[in-house]
Amino acid sequence: MLIVFIGPPGAGKGTQCRRLVDSLRIPHLSTGEMLRAVMEQDTALSRYVASYINAGKLAPDHLVMRIVSQQLKSPQCERGALFDGFPRTMVQAQMLDDFLAELGRPLDAVLELRVNDEALIERLLKRAKTDGRADDNDATIRERLRVFHEQTKPLVQYYASQGKLRSVDGMQAEDAVFSDIRGALKLP
Ligand code: ADP
Repeated sequence: MLIVFIGPPGAGKGTQCRRLVDSLRIPHLSTGEMLRAVMEQDTALSRYVASYINAGKLAPDHLVMRIVSQQLKSPQCERGALFDGFPRTMVQAQMLDDFLAELGRPLDAVLELRVNDEALIERLLKRAKTDGRADDNDATIRERLRVFHEQTKPLVQYYASQGKLRSVDGMQAEDAVFSDIRGALKLP
């Protein structure tokens, strides 16, 4: 099963993805986590990636696609994968479709987690105090939300027109969100 999970920063994607992979038993491919792992090294590439992420910008499409395609071809993804935070631009969505067409493995569903901007800013500022992520500060949070609306939101229409979109209200309590996700994916 191949599933894409779309949602603005702070929508709770990470939490819901962890619950979903536990029940579906497929790997969780979070491009944010993969890029943070790259940034932990001290190389030219890690500094290049950090220059985007720490400014609230998206990492370059070709770089993200290279990381994702390597993972997807690995044996651990034979049964499928849950993409968290990818694709995030129309170019990435197109590259993913082309790559999956080559592999002969179409996407099964695209989940959209909807949360309004005010709640997102509040959640992200709270997370900034506990997690210490360098990209969780007021200016960067606003920039990430702006980038989400400009670059990622158009994917909702793109996947709706493919008949793959399932939208879930992310303003509810965690358990209620998860139960709606299960319903949207028709899981028992
Ligand atoms: P959040 O959901 O809070 O934005 P993520 O862990 O998904 O957190 O992503 C953190 C950062 O990593 C993003 O703000 C962006 O800079 C970068 N990133 C993650 N996924 C992608 C992607 N698919 N394309 C480009 N940049 C990405």
